[in-house]
Amino acid sequence: KKTNNQMLVIFGASGDLTARKLIPALFNLYVAKQLPKNFVVLGASRSDLTDEEFRDKVVNKSRYLKAKLDDLKENFIKGFTDMFFYEDLGGDYTSEYSGLSKRISKLNIAHGTDNNYMFYLSTPPNLYETIAKNLSEVGLSSQQEGWKRLIVEKPFGYSLESAKKLNSGLQQYFKEPQIYRIDHYLGKETVQNLLVTRFSNSIFEPLWNRNYIHHVEITNAESGGVEKRGGYYDKSGALRDMFQNHLLQIVSLVVMEPPIGDQPEEIRNEKVKALKSLRIMRDEKTLFDNTIRAQYVASEINGEKVKGYREEDGVDPDSTTETYAAVKFFVDNWRWHGVPFYVRTAKRMPTKVTEIVIHFQPPHHQIFRDSGASSKDNKLIIRIQPDEGVLIKFGVKVPGQGFKVERANLDFYYSSLAETYVMEAYERLLLDAMQGDATLYARADEVEAAWEFVDPILDYWKNGKDVRMYGYAAGVWGPENGDELIDDLGTWRNPGEN
Ligand code: NAP
Repeated sequence: KKTNNQMLVIFGASGDLTARKLIPALFNLYVAKQLPKNFVVLGASRSDLTDEEFRDKVVNKSRYLKAKLDDLKENFIKGFTDMFFYEDLGGDYTSEYSGLSKRISKLNIAHGTDNNYMFYLSTPPNLYETIAKNLSEVGLSSQQEGWKRLIVEKPFGYSLESAKKLNSGLQQYFKEPQIYRIDHYLGKETVQNLLVTRFSNSIFEPLWNRNYIHHVEITNAESGGVEKRGGYYDKSGALRDMFQNHLLQIVSLVVMEPPIGDQPEEIRNEKVKALKSLRIMRDEKTLFDNTIRAQYVASEINGEKVKGYREEDGVDPDSTTETYAAVKFFVDNWRWHGVPFYVRTAKRMPTKVTEIVIHFQPPHHQIFRDSGASSKDNKLIIRIQPDEGVLIKFGVKVPGQGFKVERANLDFYYSSLAETYVMEAYERLLLDAMQGDATLYARADEVEAAWEFVDPILDYWKNGKDVRMYGYAAGVWGPENGDELIDDLGTWRNPGEN
């Protein structure tokens, strides 16, 4: 695909995301010669910085870059940093943008960026609409000359209502095809590989339905706590921070029907349909039976004391924000009728891992029932992180007399592709947006459909009667009661176990 000459304008360019993700992603694209011939990055924030100071900050602030830069020639590094410019927005993001507009025009003429501008909103979300409005007021959303795109970071709303308000707010100034809502999980190679696994093989799709799949499990575990983000996290929680966006995006890729082609709208149409088919839980009994929340409590990991969630900096000591969320739900369509989905996400787990497990039905008639592991254990495991890959677990005969069955693995790991460079999520997503490919970005109706499902759970957790809040020690797989959801199935598959 062609990447046109363009300018990337980053709002909130003095912040953490820019230093930790965007600049390293741009650097990798630069090293891989993926940036367009004429390319400029204009940082825009309230901080009072010169171009030089910004360049210093850009390169020096990123620990990731530092490690790489030592091996590179000075000229090469200079070529990268020379692409960066900075515009002080003055008082705040709300004052008008004529100064910014003039700077953009000047850079555009000087560097031949063909009036193609990508605006990256990396500020606190309450500023998104204001920035879009201010850009539009100085003509910077108009596509009369060149294209204009707006990348919006998460969180995209805190509820269905706020997401709708944000969508309609942004759409007053930019048209929907100009808006790119980033969900960095979709930039992960293995998440995209779900589409390929399902739709470019003939061996999985025939089994991908209620007749052959017993249940689906998705686990997202982080080993760390809230770290320095206590203040932010306490207003958000596991369900908003991970489940509504990243995990429901993964669910939509597992659940969706085959798209008619690989074009962005063809794929996104099917994802929306999938999200709309999730059975929304409305009554308290269903919500009580099918959702579990918990917080990590003070405990020890390897002899080291760790704080409980409520003791973390920035967290309300009486907080009811969950650091563990587990939800069981069904999908109301022909393919998935009656198949339970179990999805959980949590902090302070034994390890950092994200995986999807497709559990297949046991054979109808089990002749080796008394001989060891039964075929009930047929699983397809898609490991999203850290050791990205795909694994099939199936039964094999143990050599010797009789029919003792043991589990064996057929596996593929991306790390085995030694020659292949696996792009970081932000790198891939930035490049896609630069090329105008929105496949891996969430559309307005997708985001709203996901909130539609999540809103009643949030409401129940906030206002419901008899809502439970469990505690769990750091370094275990959540509260014991987490297994209650899995009911007749016994227990979650904890990654690393058979
Ligand atoms: P940040 O460091 O807190 O803020 C980015 C910049 O926004 C700051 O450098 C600051 O720049 C400006 N800013 C901060 N607070 C402001 C305020 N109250 N009013 C006006 N401007 C303010 O945020 P970030 O971590 O880079 O994240 C940026 C966006 O990406 C957020 O929406 C966040 O939710 C999202 N995000 C971040 C991460 C991450 O890993 N950091 C991951 C996913 C999503 P100036 O003072 O120079 O104007």
